[in-house]
Amino acid sequence: MSALRRLAIVGSGPAGFYTAARVLGRSAGNVAIDMFESLPIPHGLVRYGVAPDHPEVKIVINRFDEVATNPHFRFFGNVTIGQDVSVAELAQHYDGIVLAYGASQDKTLGLDQETTTKGVLSARSFVGWYNGHPDYQDLDLDLTNTDTAVVVGHGNVALDVARVLLSPIDRLATTDITAQALDTLRTSRIRHVHLLGRRGPLQVQFTTKELREMFSIANLALRTDLPLLTRELERGKAHIASRRPLKRLLDLLYKQVRSELPKTWSLDFLTSPQALVTAPPPTLSDPALEPYTGTLTGLTVCHNTLEGPVESPRAIATDQTHTIETGLLLRSIGYRSEAVDPSVPFDTRHHIVPNSQGRVDPALLAAHHCTLPLGMYVSGWLKRGPSGVIVSTMSDAFETAEAILSDIDQSPSSDLVPSTPSSSILELLRARGKVPVTYADWKRIEKYEFAQGQLQGKPREKLTRVEDMLQTLQLPSSH
Ligand SMILES: Cc1cc2nc3c(=O)[nH]c(=O)nc-3n(C[C@H](O)[C@H](O)[C@H](O)COP(=O)(O)OP(=O)(O)OC[C@H]3O[C@@H](n4cnc5c(N)ncnc54)[C@H](O)[C@@H]3O)c2cc1C
Repeated sequence: MSALRRLAIVGSGPAGFYTAARVLGRSAGNVAIDMFESLPIPHGLVRYGVAPDHPEVKIVINRFDEVATNPHFRFFGNVTIGQDVSVAELAQHYDGIVLAYGASQDKTLGLDQETTTKGVLSARSFVGWYNGHPDYQDLDLDLTNTDTAVVVGHGNVALDVARVLLSPIDRLATTDITAQALDTLRTSRIRHVHLLGRRGPLQVQFTTKELREMFSIANLALRTDLPLLTRELERGKAHIASRRPLKRLLDLLYKQVRSELPKTWSLDFLTSPQALVTAPPPTLSDPALEPYTGTLTGLTVCHNTLEGPVESPRAIATDQTHTIETGLLLRSIGYRSEAVDPSVPFDTRHHIVPNSQGRVDPALLAAHHCTLPLGMYVSGWLKRGPSGVIVSTMSDAFETAEAILSDIDQSPSSDLVPSTPSSSILELLRARGKVPVTYADWKRIEKYEFAQGQLQGKPREKLTRVEDMLQTLQLPSSH
């Protein structure tokens, strides 16, 4: 019988779970997997990214539950790699490590005072807030001081954010959006959302499904620059003709431009944010405003022209500008990964772990003073950059799993003797005062959430504080 190979997977989103699924499914019982997750709760952006009104997308969780029933799988929730345990320490306990910890930062616009102005937030934090991510529950968000929000970006996340801001409350109330978010949205004054894109209609990143959902919201009209849209459609005629999904999307867009209704959203093409307009902080010291240099009252934008081939033009700023009055600016221009540990080789330009089909070059690893009997691997958004849906993350995870399986096949089993028994990682964690949350623990939390949700006519009411999650399990909250 061949020796049992032990793998650590860092991150429990789709990348981690699909890598585990493929490796466990094809390894005939000779691989054991421990999955580490910084939150007590698994599933990454399936729980904390996917919009509450997309329950059909969250069905993938059933597949992850199935993986977790494999006797060679263990879940260690509430353990942050790079903080509670280093990658070098993991390397002493496992034959191989798979990094699948996603992208927990976001890109910024580079505007003056962007991070110190009240009312300027990342879409990432707003999404985390309405989806109940523990890190964003105290988000300083005021939806009562303005009737206009600006979202920078023309991707699906930007549309998710606009949809949540503009949907009637009844439509959201039956989803798994948190009770706190629902209360805040109930009193929201936002009636208009501008979505800014630096390029034109032919370059939008959102898909027809998400666009169609915007049109299904009652009393909501789309406003856009019709002459510009017509001109661009004419200019890109040949380009569009050979791309059916793009043609479908643009036909839909063209048909739906409508007159005023109580709520509006607009696609502002060829528009880039240029400067924040702010009101100075009050002279009387207000502790709530302490970290801010001012409060957002508007956004000055510049108009662009497009240069270059119609399939990939560059946006060139002109000196034509105007100011949109707004108290809320959400940037939705992409997520960003980071190195969580000095032992992780990291490409600081592309913000990924450099890899070839999921394998990290052993020489690069050695340069980071990390050696592993089998190797280090990377999967998901951390591997290819933060874009793509769950299905693309799955294909990508399968590629990484195949690399692992092939490396196992090609390594003589004598090279792969785990240096420590499987119980010793638990001992290490316990010695540090960490009691990891198991998958069975998570299912108990989930049961509690289902019961709470049922009381309110929702699929679940999420627990949003780590202390509450641990308390439900009767684990000490310092853990
Ligand atoms: C707002 C939003 C909406 C989306 N909507 C859809 C949709 O409707 N349909 C669709 O198909 N796709 C959607 N996607 C895309 C989809 O969520 C991603 O393709 C997928 O989640 C990427 O998987 P991942 O495992 O690489 O990263 P993630 O899902 O982010 O998982 C990474 C996990 O690693 C954990 N982690 C981070 N750091 C550490 C650490 N140091 N130690 C231990 N654990 C750590 C994180 O807590 C997280 O659980 C959406 C994405 C976003 C951002």
